[in-house]
Amino acid sequence: MHVLVLNSGSSSIKYRSFDDQGTEIASGLVERIGETDGRATHRVLGPDGEWSSTVEEGAIDDHAAGFAGIVQALERGGYAQELGAIGHRVVHGGAEFVEPTPIDEAVLERIRAQVPLAPLHNPANLTGIEVASRLRPDLPQVAVFDTAFHGSLPPAAHRYAVPGSWHDQHGVRRYGFHGTSHAFVARQAAAHLGRPLEDLAMITLHLGNGASLTAIDGGRSVETSMGLSPLEGLVMGTRSGDLDPAVVFHLLREAGLTPDEVERTLNRESGLLGLCGDNDLRVVERRAGDGDGSAQLALDVYVHRIRKYLGAYAAVLGRLDAIVFTAGVGENAAGIRRRVCAGLGLLGIRLDDARNEGARASEGPGGVVALHHDDAEVAVLAVATDEELEIAEQTRSALRRV
Ligand code: AMP
Repeated sequence: MHVLVLNSGSSSIKYRSFDDQGTEIASGLVERIGETDGRATHRVLGPDGEWSSTVEEGAIDDHAAGFAGIVQALERGGYAQELGAIGHRVVHGGAEFVEPTPIDEAVLERIRAQVPLAPLHNPANLTGIEVASRLRPDLPQVAVFDTAFHGSLPPAAHRYAVPGSWHDQHGVRRYGFHGTSHAFVARQAAAHLGRPLEDLAMITLHLGNGASLTAIDGGRSVETSMGLSPLEGLVMGTRSGDLDPAVVFHLLREAGLTPDEVERTLNRESGLLGLCGDNDLRVVERRAGDGDGSAQLALDVYVHRIRKYLGAYAAVLGRLDAIVFTAGVGENAAGIRRRVCAGLGLLGIRLDDARNEGARASEGPGGVVALHHDDAEVAVLAVATDEELEIAEQTRSALRRV
């Protein structure tokens, strides 16, 4: 059975499709949906093992038209018969969804009920589900939640110290995100180390445009840096991460900003972008290398925050077998990995500079590269993440359970 994985945004649909062995057989991006200059890019693996690409430009009226184009691309590739299920990425599952969940009307209603927790993300994910269910009612559809892996957070880690009524009536607690990525790289790391995941204590660092750390004990998430929303925690490309909530009240009172303006600024104009004007870490590194003070400061704040969390999570776990770098920065940026690990010998972390320099996770066997010194107590790994493959696997496992 092939599984098509959809990641629906407000004006885009990203997709990848996998065969029974988990081999990718198609991928693409439909973008600028609803505008006159829409664009759909499709890549399909042919029977001869060669990829063919098509680019279609012109108005794509709505998500239904975008989805129809994806199905047609699969048909053109000769994969119409094999398609057996659709897995949907859903950002927020609230406290309700801690497993990948086959979708029916009742589940759809419960996902709609989570919208107030993720107004920036869940509505678009829901549109994708509604469209795919309407156009392909013959296929089982499964929702895979970014939050689900963190359903195991103990109350000490997931509660905020606020009145209990906020938790009970408004769902104010920490949920965590990037769960498919943290779960995937933890499994890959355990396989690389040749040890059962159940025996391992590790910290996974998902450092991409969005960024989060997770402490994983025996395969279960016990602490993670994102909270009610993906805004908490590390410094990100455009998100602030942690800040004193009083900053918000101060800005409302003193700067005359509206709540929406503060929310947008903290999500879209802060982080590396806010500190130095660029959110692409490669550009920030280049500028810092040229002596640009604000770019150097941005890197300093970025790295300092990661190290603070790393130390805290070592304390939460009480033991440490591995730290795992992943996503665009973690997989590729040797300079950031070096600075994050510097001087952490007290935690048993010793990076081997020669192994780290220039190492890219995707170039290692199975997408894993070991970066630690031979006699280090803690393994330091760069692991290529694959959130869509993980969603496809979870979709299959959810359907096996039905
Ligand atoms: P992601 O969200 O996982 O696609 O990660 C995007 C981030 O990874 C951006 O800030 C990129 O600048 C960063 N990135 C990707 N490749 C590299 C690289 N070779 N060196 C440094 N940063 C990189």
